[in-house]
Amino acid sequence: MSRRDELERNLAAVRERIAHACEQADRDPGDVTLVVVTKTHPASDVELLADLGVTDVGENRHPEAADKQAEVAASGASLRWHFVGGLQTNKAGAVARYADVVHSVDRAKLARSLDRGAEAAGRTLRVLVQVDFDTTDPGRAGVPPSDVRALADVIVGECRHLELGGVMTVAPLGQDPEPSFAHLREISADLARTVPTATTISAGMSEDFEVAIRHGATHVRVGRSVLGQRPVLQ
Ligand SMILES: *Cc1c(COP(=O)(O)O)cnc(C)c1O
Repeated sequence: MSRRDELERNLAAVRERIAHACEQADRDPGDVTLVVVTKTHPASDVELLADLGVTDVGENRHPEAADKQAEVAASGASLRWHFVGGLQTNKAGAVARYADVVHSVDRAKLARSLDRGAEAAGRTLRVLVQVDFDTTDPGRAGVPPSDVRALADVIVGECRHLELGGVMTVAPLGQDPEPSFAHLREISADLARTVPTATTISAGMSEDFEVAIRHGATHVRVGRSVLGQRPVLQ
């Protein structure tokens, strides 16, 4: 089977799963955006995905994301690029030049760096606050639920080149994702009451996106179910 056929088959299966989850949740599938996470996979895969109708792709590392974005843009394909990984402050300026949405803002310093980068690039960057619901592992990315409002205030109040787009989470490893996704939806509703642009709920990966859709996810980030296992990083 060609790579194109493989991706087409996997995409069809994922879209079917999304449609089924939406039906179960009485939601319109048009309200759920599939972000295909292409990290570690080559630009040629991204080009095939664009050809197969994918509009949104996700990456988690700079400069891999920058290189791929440039290569794909040169091929003529037009996509929205979502930066979904942990981000060092000193790389924020570079990411602000090519990302359309950054899902992983979890500290004021990073927000301010992205804001300066967006200003320098002459653009407005949509950002999400990453929320962490895991109380057992302090090393994880994301702010605890109680700190979302304070970070949102910095983004809305101080960062004129950022648009607060909503919230994102990665469910705690090895735990039932349901309570996290349910809580994220409450946080989102609270935020949206005062920030009209904060409409995005980014939640759910290959293993758990049906649960996320049941809890209002507007963006699901799916890697392996579309692209297969990732090559082992050297
Ligand atoms: C890799 C990654 C995904 C996709 O995970 P899969 O299990 O491959 O679907 C989603 N979100 C983030 C933040 C990721 O790093």
